[in-house]
Amino acid sequence: MGKKFKPATLCVQAGWQPQKGEPRVLPIYQSTTFKYDNSEQMARLFDLEDSGFFYTRLQNPTNEAVASKIAQLEGGVAAMLTSSGQAANFYAVFNICQAGDHFIACNTIYGGTYNLFGVTMKKLGIECTFVDPEWDEAQIEAAFRPNTKCFFGETISNPGGHVFDIERFANMAHKHGVPLIVDNTFATPINCRPFEWGADIVTHSTTKYMDGHAVCVGGAIVDSGNFDWNAHAEKFPGLCEPDESYHGLTYAKAFGKMAYITKATAQLMRDLGSIQSPQNAFLLNLGLETLHLRMPQHCKNAQAVAEFLEKDERVAWVNYCGLPGNKYYELGQKYLPNGSCGVIAFGLKGTKEEAIKFMDSLKMIAIVTHVADARTCVLHPASHTHRQLTDEQLREAGIAPDLIRLSVGIENADDIIDDIKQALDVTVQH
Ligand SMILES: *Cc1c(COP(=O)(O)O)cnc(C)c1O
Repeated sequence: MGKKFKPATLCVQAGWQPQKGEPRVLPIYQSTTFKYDNSEQMARLFDLEDSGFFYTRLQNPTNEAVASKIAQLEGGVAAMLTSSGQAANFYAVFNICQAGDHFIACNTIYGGTYNLFGVTMKKLGIECTFVDPEWDEAQIEAAFRPNTKCFFGETISNPGGHVFDIERFANMAHKHGVPLIVDNTFATPINCRPFEWGADIVTHSTTKYMDGHAVCVGGAIVDSGNFDWNAHAEKFPGLCEPDESYHGLTYAKAFGKMAYITKATAQLMRDLGSIQSPQNAFLLNLGLETLHLRMPQHCKNAQAVAEFLEKDERVAWVNYCGLPGNKYYELGQKYLPNGSCGVIAFGLKGTKEEAIKFMDSLKMIAIVTHVADARTCVLHPASHTHRQLTDEQLREAGIAPDLIRLSVGIENADDIIDDIKQALDVTVQH
């Protein structure tokens, strides 16, 4: 779209731009393949000389429209959809790292990503150093090595709710000639656009607020187009040297600002194939159409719930950056002035067993392995999502063993609080 529209308009209108006589609503292109008139036309597509669709593993019009909407919402130049948030984070890093390389990530990130970076990518010969984002400058500087290729953090960490100082880490990464990758899943581009603070690449688990209804697993990678790969060509041979699997094409030269996403599509998606199905992309698009309405409601409800929890004497601690006096309040005001997200981390006074009893006593709020959708839900990371981490790793990741992750939905806030209240009443004695 030519005019620069505001996020709410982009949520509803961006992406699918029908021409005369085409469906008004984004169609599901339920086709693996696309027809051309002759062999020459097809050959040009394979050589990346023409753009167009030929096989859904690489590109599909439904996915393309939704990726374009997400790119516009983030203020980036290009985006790709992936089958999951895990695939998005793997591709985002693997697109610029190879065996023998190193990268840095915050130790507060989502457990699945922590495991991907620390265990699985290590098996591919790519090493990740985890740093505590609260360390001082010198301690974090010490993690950079000559073979470091990127820095990775989450705008709001899952499940701890730590707010990432994007500008600070963008400056640090750029000083070392590497891009900053930010997983913006919890904030969404409605509440924070990391590119405006210097981030170079943004990833999403679209499974969460973007879909918002807990109906499809998906991911996205968005490139700002701002990182100058050629200025650090020796660090990024995959982008700045000829790709033998594409008969000698050099992505940074041939595609300029589109190089990163083009390589991720033409090489990683071609070879690894974690595509999002067009059916799921269609459902994701329906979610995106109301993202700008749902996020403020999640934040409003979460603020009310966090304030309730903070006042209740049976609650030991609450982490929600919207609470004045919270450790992340100032960073929240800077990066998330209109609200952060619906996820609250808190702990009860008492034992781990009482935390479990509290969750089992909830009536409307369900215990589910999910977060960030319309229905309020709860999870105990130490016994669910983060089971694979040792107590020490849990502590390093800023996750207390008593941490309860409450994902506040878009129901009526009084009903959510009433459910919490009755569960506290049967669990913890006054
Ligand atoms: C859930 C989540 C992921 C992983 O996404 P999936 O869609 O479950 O694969 C990555 N990052 C964050 C911040 C998440 O919350």
